[in-house]
Amino acid sequence: MTKNNHMTTCPVCGEAQWKSLYNLKPWTIEECTTCRFARIDPLPERAERPDMYSEEKIVSRQNKKRGAISQAALVSKRWLNKNFRHNKNKIFLDKLHTYLPRGGRLLDGGCGAGGILLHARDRYECHGIEISAYLAELANRNKGLNVQVGDLQTYDFKELKFDAITLVSIIEHLDDPAGMVRKCYDLLAPGGVLLLKTPNFMCLNRFIRRSGWPGLRPPDHLVYFSPRNLQLLLEKAGFRRFRTTALPFNDNMYIDAFK
Ligand SMILES: [Zn+2]
Repeated sequence: MTKNNHMTTCPVCGEAQWKSLYNLKPWTIEECTTCRFARIDPLPERAERPDMYSEEKIVSRQNKKRGAISQAALVSKRWLNKNFRHNKNKIFLDKLHTYLPRGGRLLDGGCGAGGILLHARDRYECHGIEISAYLAELANRNKGLNVQVGDLQTYDFKELKFDAITLVSIIEHLDDPAGMVRKCYDLLAPGGVLLLKTPNFMCLNRFIRRSGWPGLRPPDHLVYFSPRNLQLLLEKAGFRRFRTTALPFNDNMYIDAFK
Protein backbone atom coordinates (compact mmCIF):
# COMPACT_ATOMS: atom_id res chain seq x y z
CA MET A 1 0.00 0.00 0.00
CA THR A 2 1.30 3.43 -0.86
CA LYS A 3 1.14 6.07 1.83
CA ASN A 4 0.26 8.98 -0.43
CA ASN A 5 -3.43 8.54 -1.09
CA HIS A 6 -5.37 11.02 1.04
CA MET A 7 -8.85 12.49 0.98
CA THR A 8 -8.09 16.11 1.78
CA THR A 9 -11.44 17.76 1.04
CA CYS A 10 -14.57 16.58 2.82
CA PRO A 11 -16.98 15.16 0.18
CA VAL A 12 -19.99 16.33 2.22
CA CYS A 13 -19.23 19.95 3.13
CA GLY A 14 -16.11 20.75 1.10
CA GLU A 15 -14.03 21.83 4.12
CA ALA A 16 -10.50 20.49 4.71
CA GLN A 17 -10.08 20.53 8.51
CA TRP A 18 -9.72 17.07 10.06
CA LYS A 19 -9.52 15.94 13.66
CA SER A 20 -7.83 12.65 14.47
CA LEU A 21 -10.11 10.33 16.48
CA TYR A 22 -8.53 6.87 16.56
CA ASN A 23 -5.18 5.42 15.72
CA LEU A 24 -5.53 1.96 14.19
CA LYS A 25 -2.02 1.56 12.86
CA PRO A 26 -1.13 2.10 10.06
CA TRP A 27 -4.40 4.02 9.66
CA THR A 28 -5.96 6.89 11.53
CA ILE A 29 -9.69 7.61 11.60
CA GLU A 30 -10.25 11.33 11.12
CA GLU A 31 -13.40 13.40 11.38
CA CYS A 32 -14.31 16.56 9.46
CA THR A 33 -14.52 19.32 12.07
CA THR A 34 -17.46 20.93 10.24
CA CYS A 35 -19.89 18.08 9.41
CA ARG A 36 -18.38 15.11 11.31
CA PHE A 37 -18.02 12.92 8.23
CA ALA A 38 -15.11 10.54 8.92
CA ARG A 39 -12.62 8.66 6.76
CA ILE A 40 -9.48 6.60 7.09
CA ASP A 41 -6.08 8.02 6.31
CA PRO A 42 -4.26 7.06 4.14
CA LEU A 43 -6.70 5.48 1.68
CA PRO A 44 -5.77 2.26 -0.12
CA GLU A 45 -4.95 2.63 -3.81
CA ARG A 46 -7.94 2.04 -6.09
CA ALA A 47 -5.97 -0.38 -8.23
CA GLU A 48 -5.66 -2.72 -5.23
CA ARG A 49 -9.38 -2.85 -4.53
CA PRO A 50 -10.61 -5.52 -7.02
CA ASP A 51 -7.99 -7.86 -5.53
CA MET A 52 -9.73 -7.56 -2.13
CA TYR A 53 -12.78 -9.23 -3.68
CA SER A 54 -11.04 -12.20 -5.33
CA GLU A 55 -12.30 -15.73 -4.60
CA GLU A 56 -9.30 -16.44 -2.36
CA LYS A 57 -9.80 -13.31 -0.21
CA ILE A 58 -13.57 -13.76 0.04
CA VAL A 59 -13.32 -17.43 1.08
CA SER A 60 -10.62 -16.62 3.64
CA ARG A 61 -12.76 -13.82 5.16
CA GLN A 62 -15.81 -16.13 5.31
CA ASN A 63 -13.78 -18.82 7.08
CA LYS A 64 -12.44 -16.29 9.58
CA LYS A 65 -15.98 -15.09 10.25
CA ARG A 66 -17.25 -18.66 10.71
CA GLY A 67 -14.39 -19.36 13.12
CA ALA A 68 -15.39 -16.34 15.19
CA ILE A 69 -19.03 -17.44 15.57
CA SER A 70 -19.54 -19.83 18.47
CA GLN A 71 -21.14 -23.21 17.85
CA ALA A 72 -24.16 -22.23 19.99
CA ALA A 73 -24.68 -19.07 17.94
CA LEU A 74 -24.44 -21.07 14.73
CA VAL A 75 -27.05 -23.59 15.92
CA SER A 76 -29.45 -20.85 17.01
CA LYS A 77 -28.96 -19.04 13.69
CA ARG A 78 -29.79 -22.21 11.73
CA TRP A 79 -32.84 -22.76 13.93
CA LEU A 80 -34.05 -19.20 13.32
CA ASN A 81 -33.52 -19.58 9.57
CA LYS A 82 -35.43 -22.83 9.51
CA ASN A 83 -38.34 -21.85 11.73
CA PHE A 84 -38.89 -18.22 10.91
CA ARG A 85 -37.52 -17.97 7.35
CA HIS A 86 -35.31 -15.30 8.89
CA ASN A 87 -33.87 -13.30 6.03
CA LYS A 88 -31.26 -10.58 6.42
CA ASN A 89 -32.54 -9.04 3.20
CA LYS A 90 -36.08 -8.82 4.53
CA ILE A 91 -35.76 -5.13 5.46
CA PHE A 92 -34.94 -4.30 1.84
CA LEU A 93 -37.55 -6.59 0.35
CA ASP A 94 -40.20 -4.97 2.58
CA LYS A 95 -39.07 -1.50 1.50
CA LEU A 96 -39.18 -2.52 -2.17
CA HIS A 97 -42.69 -3.90 -1.72
CA THR A 98 -43.72 -0.56 -0.18
CA TYR A 99 -42.18 1.72 -2.80
CA LEU A 100 -41.96 -0.25 -6.02
CA PRO A 101 -44.95 -1.42 -8.08
CA ARG A 102 -44.80 -4.97 -9.44
CA GLY A 103 -42.76 -5.09 -12.63
CA GLY A 104 -40.55 -2.14 -11.59
CA ARG A 105 -36.90 -2.17 -12.58
CA LEU A 106 -34.44 -2.82 -9.73
CA LEU A 107 -30.65 -2.51 -9.66
CA ASP A 108 -28.73 -3.99 -6.73
CA GLY A 109 -25.31 -2.30 -6.63
CA GLY A 110 -22.69 -4.60 -5.17
CA CYS A 111 -25.17 -7.45 -5.15
CA GLY A 112 -22.68 -10.15 -4.12
CA ALA A 113 -23.98 -13.62 -4.96
CA GLY A 114 -27.46 -12.14 -5.48
CA GLY A 115 -29.31 -12.52 -2.15
CA ILE A 116 -31.77 -9.65 -2.63
CA LEU A 117 -32.29 -10.25 -6.35
CA LEU A 118 -33.06 -13.91 -5.77
CA HIS A 119 -35.99 -12.97 -3.53
CA ALA A 120 -37.08 -10.00 -5.65
CA ARG A 121 -37.05 -11.53 -9.13
CA ASP A 122 -40.59 -12.92 -9.04
CA ARG A 123 -41.89 -9.41 -8.63
CA TYR A 124 -39.45 -7.06 -10.38
CA GLU A 125 -37.17 -6.77 -13.39
CA CYS A 126 -33.89 -7.47 -11.61
CA HIS A 127 -30.40 -6.28 -12.50
CA GLY A 128 -27.22 -6.60 -10.48
CA ILE A 129 -23.69 -5.30 -10.66
CA GLU A 130 -20.84 -6.76 -8.66
CA ILE A 131 -17.13 -5.91 -8.54
CA SER A 132 -16.15 -9.48 -7.65
CA ALA A 133 -16.13 -11.71 -10.74
CA TYR A 134 -16.24 -14.71 -8.41
CA LEU A 135 -19.51 -13.63 -6.72
CA ALA A 136 -21.10 -12.47 -9.98
CA GLU A 137 -20.42 -15.87 -11.52
CA LEU A 138 -21.99 -17.62 -8.52
CA ALA A 139 -25.10 -15.45 -9.00
CA ASN A 140 -25.33 -16.06 -12.73
CA ARG A 141 -24.34 -19.71 -12.91
CA ASN A 142 -26.03 -21.13 -9.82
CA LYS A 143 -29.02 -18.86 -9.53
CA GLY A 144 -29.67 -17.77 -13.11
CA LEU A 145 -29.56 -14.07 -12.23
CA ASN A 146 -28.62 -11.13 -14.46
CA VAL A 147 -25.46 -9.79 -12.81
CA GLN A 148 -22.76 -7.77 -14.58
CA VAL A 149 -19.17 -7.70 -13.38
CA GLY A 150 -18.00 -4.15 -12.82
CA ASP A 151 -18.01 -0.98 -10.76
CA LEU A 152 -21.44 0.67 -10.61
CA GLN A 153 -19.81 4.09 -10.51
CA THR A 154 -18.08 3.71 -13.87
CA TYR A 155 -20.28 1.12 -15.59
CA ASP A 156 -22.09 2.21 -18.76
CA PHE A 157 -25.76 1.26 -18.45
CA LYS A 158 -26.53 2.96 -21.81
CA GLU A 159 -30.03 4.45 -21.65
CA LEU A 160 -31.29 2.10 -18.93
CA LYS A 161 -33.04 3.83 -15.98
CA PHE A 162 -34.09 2.14 -12.76
CA ASP A 163 -37.07 2.60 -10.44
CA ALA A 164 -35.07 1.51 -7.39
CA ILE A 165 -31.38 1.06 -6.59
CA THR A 166 -30.15 -0.74 -3.48
CA LEU A 167 -26.71 -0.06 -1.99
CA VAL A 168 -26.50 -2.44 0.95
CA SER A 169 -23.31 -2.00 2.99
CA ILE A 170 -21.50 -0.57 -0.04
CA ILE A 171 -20.97 3.17 0.42
CA GLU A 172 -18.58 2.72 3.38
CA HIS A 173 -16.18 0.91 1.03
CA LEU A 174 -15.83 3.82 -1.43
CA ASP A 175 -13.23 6.56 -1.72
CA ASP A 176 -15.64 8.70 -3.79
CA PRO A 177 -19.05 8.36 -2.11
CA ALA A 178 -20.24 11.67 -3.64
CA GLY A 179 -19.56 10.35 -7.14
CA MET A 180 -21.44 7.15 -6.38
CA VAL A 181 -24.60 8.86 -5.14
CA ARG A 182 -24.53 11.23 -8.14
CA LYS A 183 -24.30 8.21 -10.46
CA CYS A 184 -27.25 6.58 -8.67
CA TYR A 185 -29.28 9.79 -9.00
CA ASP A 186 -28.57 9.84 -12.76
CA LEU A 187 -29.50 6.16 -13.12
CA LEU A 188 -32.87 6.57 -11.38
CA ALA A 189 -36.06 7.27 -13.28
CA PRO A 190 -38.10 10.29 -12.03
CA GLY A 191 -39.63 9.35 -8.66
CA GLY A 192 -37.13 6.50 -8.23
CA VAL A 193 -35.66 5.59 -4.87
CA LEU A 194 -32.16 4.81 -3.62
CA LEU A 195 -32.11 2.47 -0.60
CA LEU A 196 -28.95 2.65 1.50
CA LYS A 197 -27.60 0.79 4.50
CA THR A 198 -24.30 1.78 6.12
CA PRO A 199 -22.73 1.85 9.61
CA ASN A 200 -23.97 4.77 11.71
CA PHE A 201 -20.92 6.64 13.00
CA MET A 202 -23.13 8.44 15.52
CA CYS A 203 -24.58 5.28 17.11
CA LEU A 204 -24.18 4.84 20.84
CA ASN A 205 -21.98 1.79 20.55
CA ARG A 206 -19.28 3.77 18.70
CA PHE A 207 -19.03 6.28 21.55
CA ILE A 208 -18.88 3.45 24.11
CA ARG A 209 -16.41 1.17 22.30
CA ARG A 210 -14.48 3.95 20.56
CA SER A 211 -11.63 2.41 18.53
CA GLY A 212 -13.04 -1.07 19.32
CA TRP A 213 -16.34 -0.35 17.54
CA PRO A 214 -16.90 -3.16 14.99
CA GLY A 215 -17.99 -0.63 12.34
CA LEU A 216 -14.38 0.60 12.12
CA ARG A 217 -12.77 -1.74 9.63
CA PRO A 218 -9.81 -0.16 7.86
CA PRO A 219 -8.83 -0.66 5.09
CA ASP A 220 -12.16 -2.26 4.19
CA HIS A 221 -14.40 0.57 5.43
CA LEU A 222 -12.98 3.85 4.13
CA VAL A 223 -15.72 6.36 5.00
CA TYR A 224 -18.15 6.77 7.90
CA PHE A 225 -21.39 8.73 7.96
CA SER A 226 -23.91 10.12 10.41
CA PRO A 227 -27.58 10.21 9.37
CA ARG A 228 -27.28 13.98 9.01
CA ASN A 229 -24.16 14.20 6.83
CA LEU A 230 -25.23 11.28 4.62
CA GLN A 231 -28.49 13.11 3.97
CA LEU A 232 -26.50 16.27 3.12
CA LEU A 233 -24.42 14.29 0.62
CA LEU A 234 -27.60 12.91 -0.96
CA GLU A 235 -29.15 16.40 -1.09
CA LYS A 236 -26.07 17.65 -2.91
CA ALA A 237 -26.59 14.91 -5.51
CA GLY A 238 -30.16 16.10 -6.07
CA PHE A 239 -32.27 13.86 -3.80
CA ARG A 240 -35.08 15.78 -2.18
CA ARG A 241 -37.08 13.49 0.11
CA PHE A 242 -35.78 11.06 2.71
CA ARG A 243 -36.86 8.40 5.13
CA THR A 244 -34.17 7.64 7.70
CA THR A 245 -33.99 4.89 10.31
CA ALA A 246 -31.11 5.32 12.77
CA LEU A 247 -31.65 3.77 16.18
CA PRO A 248 -29.09 4.65 18.87
CA PHE A 249 -28.42 0.99 19.75
CA ASN A 250 -28.09 -0.19 16.16
CA ASP A 251 -24.62 -0.05 14.54
CA ASN A 252 -26.24 0.47 11.12
CA MET A 253 -28.60 3.05 9.66
CA TYR A 254 -30.92 3.08 6.67
CA ILE A 255 -31.74 5.98 4.38
CA ASP A 256 -34.32 5.81 1.62
CA ALA A 257 -33.67 8.75 -0.75
CA PHE A 258 -36.22 9.73 -3.39
CA LYS A 259 -35.48 11.46 -6.69
ZN1 LIG B 1 -17.40 17.90 6.24
